[in-house]
Amino acid sequence: MIDLRSDTCSRPTDEMRKVMAAAPVGDDVYGDDPTVRALEHRTAELLGKEEAVYMPSGTMTNQVALRTHTEAGDEVLMEADAHLYLLESGAPAALSGLMIRHIKGRHGIFTERQVDDAMRVEHPFQPTTSSPPTRLLCVENTHNLAGGTVWPIERIREVAGSARRHGLALHLDGARLWNACVRAGVPAAQYADHFDSVSVCFSKGLGAPVGSALAGRSEFVSRARRFKRMFGGGFRQAGIIAAGALHALEHHRELLARDHDNAADLANGLARLPGIEIDLETVQTNIVRFGVTSMTAGQFVEECMREGLSMLPSGRDQVRAVLYLNVTAPDIQRALEIVRSVVNGRK
Ligand SMILES: *Cc1c(COP(=O)(O)O)cnc(C)c1O
Repeated sequence: MIDLRSDTCSRPTDEMRKVMAAAPVGDDVYGDDPTVRALEHRTAELLGKEEAVYMPSGTMTNQVALRTHTEAGDEVLMEADAHLYLLESGAPAALSGLMIRHIKGRHGIFTERQVDDAMRVEHPFQPTTSSPPTRLLCVENTHNLAGGTVWPIERIREVAGSARRHGLALHLDGARLWNACVRAGVPAAQYADHFDSVSVCFSKGLGAPVGSALAGRSEFVSRARRFKRMFGGGFRQAGIIAAGALHALEHHRELLARDHDNAADLANGLARLPGIEIDLETVQTNIVRFGVTSMTAGQFVEECMREGLSMLPSGRDQVRAVLYLNVTAPDIQRALEIVRSVVNGRK
């Protein structure tokens, strides 16, 4: 089975399993797991932040960040298709009591002007106590639902400037920040510099089995550690999995370029097939989103699955395929053959 559902399906390499088996461990809740500490230290260093905290998932790092930045009744600005909003089980409302205000981006990327426009204009004859206080702006890089699109660093600088002028804090959902860095040739710390908090995943393209980290200033991370524990994220001998994440961080970041090449090959091959619609402009990193015209996404995915190719349907006619380190160039050719046979069968 060629599994292109998600880069979270990446599997640990033999070398990674060896370092995991040999990892020194302690108790993460007592803060004395040496491998977790080493991972947190290295992550903070790469992101140019004072501290980082390791957690079981990217959803947890994002939601702990929201909880740490805000109080119930606050308003948070984010892109309309943000993972934070659409794919985290309603957590902003359930766990932090937040109001979300959307900014509609182009390919997931919005402008300084749109941030300005999302701020309410206050008038002296209107009580300011009536509006929910806008506290935080979130940015997603790469943007998952837009197809793994990359924020230009200039654009980040502009929207961050606007957010600062309006007194907002900034959070970066950088689940795939490593992909953005490889594609844009921008160091992670340069992207992170514009944000108060940054969330990164080790369990996606980097290929570690479990985990994400949240980085920021020491005070922020200390407060985040409390909510990590409150949300059930104290995970004891986590050094076993932190060792895999640390190994991935040191050895797999450059490998992401290969996934981007494979994604481009898959996208270009798909663009030549009848019954497939694809906007090649959105294929910038390791995600390929495309539309099917001769059947529903559900039918298409099911037929591909029967031929040995697994992908994710998204909405009525959209399909997502994601590349990662266990997927090879021959797998891409085979995947294209399967798609060709499925769409040909329906002509
Ligand atoms: C995958 C992802 C997350 C969270 O991932 P988990 O599955 O909870 O680890 C957060 N943000 C974005 C943009 C993602 O793609």
